[in-house]
Amino acid sequence: MLRQALLFASRKGGARRILETAPFTGDVVRRFVAGETIEDAARVTGDLTAEGLLVTLDALGEDTEDGGRVEANVDHYVALLERLGESGLGTRAEVSVKLSAIGLSLGEELALENARRICGAARSASTTVTLDMEEHTAVDATLRIVHELRRDFPDVGAVIQAYLRRAEEHCAELAYEGSRVRLCKGAYAAPDAVAFTDKEEIDKSYVRCMKVLMAGKGYPMIATHDARLIDIGGALAVLNERDADTFEYQMLYGIRSAEQRRLAGKGAQVRVYVAYGSEWYEYFMRRLAERPSNLKLFARSLVHR
Ligand code: FAD
Repeated sequence: MLRQALLFASRKGGARRILETAPFTGDVVRRFVAGETIEDAARVTGDLTAEGLLVTLDALGEDTEDGGRVEANVDHYVALLERLGESGLGTRAEVSVKLSAIGLSLGEELALENARRICGAARSASTTVTLDMEEHTAVDATLRIVHELRRDFPDVGAVIQAYLRRAEEHCAELAYEGSRVRLCKGAYAAPDAVAFTDKEEIDKSYVRCMKVLMAGKGYPMIATHDARLIDIGGALAVLNERDADTFEYQMLYGIRSAEQRRLAGKGAQVRVYVAYGSEWYEYFMRRLAERPSNLKLFARSLVHR
């Protein structure tokens, strides 16, 4: 109930405008958002990669129908990738891109063209792009764009959300040689008709999807903080005789950081998803929706300002 309310609020422009410009939200937001600028992103990336972690960078600013902002978002990603290339971070850090930030609501062709530009810049920086998965209504278009992009950029990463009833079927389609697939639970509100809503059912779907991806020929990216699922992922890797460099774990910046380092210390590849930028509202609200205790921390920061 609370989760649905927070996800609903994440779509409300009014609250967004108030909170994004409010100085008092800083400390709690900074737990999940690595800073505002490309320099902040590069600094945090440098720190994490020096500790043996991999990174994927999300330049916040999703869900726009404004052509000027779409162009600015694409330019920003290109500048970020140039920065990664210049500093040699491209071999350890990739980017995560939301199609809603680069024009999907203005047309699939435009989003594809923009994604191509970002993929070209990523290639020049010796790195890759993963297309985040967003609302369930955008899944088919996103997978079509992944498919098109992979003709020229076979290393483009796809994301499957285990809470979707079609997730296992999509994993089977994507478990081919060279296919990078991030598996997450799913962070958006989705109706019962298309998604499991019960935690137990989502977890079971996650395990079924992991089994398909780990047994397949692709490169699974196990994106979860769930200790039980991480253990199952590790066991499936052993069962399928996978070497440590044929799959990776992924977690969000600011969540279970000690576990990220523990897994990396054991020789696993661990990638940290680092979001940065001033438009943090939707991203932050999804993090609140995932864990009610985050909401208490946030509420306290408002009261004690
Ligand atoms: P949960 O059962 O939610 O959490 C397991 C445990 O992890 C919790 O008990 C808690 O200890 C910890 N935890 C989880 N979330 C939080 C939090 N917010 N604050 C503090 N502790 C927490 N979703 C999409 O829909 N599309 C995407 O493209 C996408 N990309 C992602 C990329 C990465 C690298 C990761 C890690 C997640 C991504 N997600 C994405 C979000 C994902 O769908 C889940 O909403 C999120 O990961 C929480 O689910 P969980 O698997 O960690 O399991």
